[in-house]
Amino acid sequence: MNHKLNIVEKAASFEVQKIREDFPILKQLVRGKTLCYIDNAATTQKPMVVLNAIDNYYKSKNSNIHRGVHFLSEAATASFEAARTKVKEFINAKSENEIIFTRGTTESINLVAYSFGRNNLNEGDEIIISTMEHHSNIVPWQLIAAEKKAHLKIIPINDKGELILEEFEKIISERTKLVSIVYVSNSLGTINPVEEIISKAHAYGIPVLLDAAQAVYHLPIDVQKLDCDFLAFSGHKIYGPTGIGILYGKETLLEKMPPFMGGGDMISKVTFEKTTYNSLPYKFEAGTSNICGGIGLGTALDYVSSIGFENIIPHENDLLNYATNELKLINGLRIIGEADKKAGVISFVFNNIHPHDVGTFLDFEGVAIRTGHHCTQPVMDRFNIAATCRASFAMYNTKEEIDILVNALKNVTEVFK
Ligand code: PMP
Repeated sequence: MNHKLNIVEKAASFEVQKIREDFPILKQLVRGKTLCYIDNAATTQKPMVVLNAIDNYYKSKNSNIHRGVHFLSEAATASFEAARTKVKEFINAKSENEIIFTRGTTESINLVAYSFGRNNLNEGDEIIISTMEHHSNIVPWQLIAAEKKAHLKIIPINDKGELILEEFEKIISERTKLVSIVYVSNSLGTINPVEEIISKAHAYGIPVLLDAAQAVYHLPIDVQKLDCDFLAFSGHKIYGPTGIGILYGKETLLEKMPPFMGGGDMISKVTFEKTTYNSLPYKFEAGTSNICGGIGLGTALDYVSSIGFENIIPHENDLLNYATNELKLINGLRIIGEADKKAGVISFVFNNIHPHDVGTFLDFEGVAIRTGHHCTQPVMDRFNIAATCRASFAMYNTKEEIDILVNALKNVTEVFK
């Protein structure tokens, strides 16, 4: 009862205009127009607290971590490791040993492909991915599969942009060594039934990697509840800096995996005869980490927690529903990706106007959307199109911005009539 009251109070206190005040970039004019930034699936904007954390780090703590005995090094190490604890708590991992700082989702997936893949794949083995994967969850598996003479199996998608789970059940077998699936699609917006996929894979004893690059800023993530074996995300999609990301892995799996890269910090003892490796998580963090990025990410997660997904989800769902209904009224516009469960993303095409022309026209109106294949060319092939226009929302977007988008799109259709 108390908990419910708390949520109601918090929801009432969610004022999007107040949130926007936290993001200085949103106040600027572009091409003489108010910036309407709806390209959040590419990257999100950064709140002042994150910018201050970065500024403060370089002004007062900059130093190298872990090996130093002096004051600044200890301060930098403490802040970086505190950020690791924040990540652990944000996704409810069991231990900091399961949280590895990487450059982003792409590096996290490559780490698993090369480290887990090299150690566990043999000729004839299979890795399952899906048609709606980002290239960063396709190409690393193609590379390692070629090296190990293993094969990729693909879960197809239906016309709404949903995974066809019956097909998943047909291709999973004792040859499958890993299932690697996107949680929320960056080009379709589909929220995949990852719990179901994980439990089906686990019935065969097969580990599952979740690409949570898009999920992380739209949905709360609890890795213990999901029971995923690996999970990857990027700091820059969740209001944090670029160049920093996370690989979560179950400790039992990470323990058995060899290092991904060699260098400083990841070793315990080096001689020319033999090198032994550092303990988790440092075994996977060769070289100087993006210290400031880690601290910025920790601050971004604090910021998201202070707003709360109980507020973010209804607001973003409102935006998505409103935008979907309004866009459907525009002549000649077709939405690509109409899954029953969606988050944050609307992809669309016009019968006779190229997406790049739409994007360029919108830019003149101060509206930032993305056009292209969104690093998901197999999705484009599936729908027999070359590209889409993609509007994608974050917590600071407003219905007024959707109105601006819709009016600008109506003007596009007039111009190209
Ligand atoms: N997966 C998905 C679903 C994404 O949306 C992205 C970023 N567009 C990536 C992976 C790759 O993320 P990054 O470029 O930050 O490594």
